[in-house]
Amino acid sequence: MSVPHCALCDSNPTAKAQQTPTDLLEGDYCPVCHQPTCRAHLRIVRWRWKTTRQTDSAQVCERCKRTYQHRYWDSAQRDWIS
Ligand SMILES: [Zn+2]
Ligand SMILES: [Zn+2]
Repeated sequence: MSVPHCALCDSNPTAKAQQTPTDLLEGDYCPVCHQPTCRAHLRIVRWRWKTTRQTDSAQVCERCKRTYQHRYWDSAQRDWIS
């Protein structure tokens, strides 16, 4: 998955200057805030499904992870680990 630009780089001139085409090619849309996010700003979060007790993971943007917004994502189904 690739993204046309990165919302976090766009708000940070230092990060924007370091952004490479590969960062965008390997970026993805944050499943929590739906902002396009480059590879450098994606962070892995983990949870356990309440029904199966299986662990799973996904990548969210750095801002959502730092502010714990991802923990509201489908929280009825998921016990958050990180
Ligand atoms: Zn970025
Ligand atoms: Zn996000």
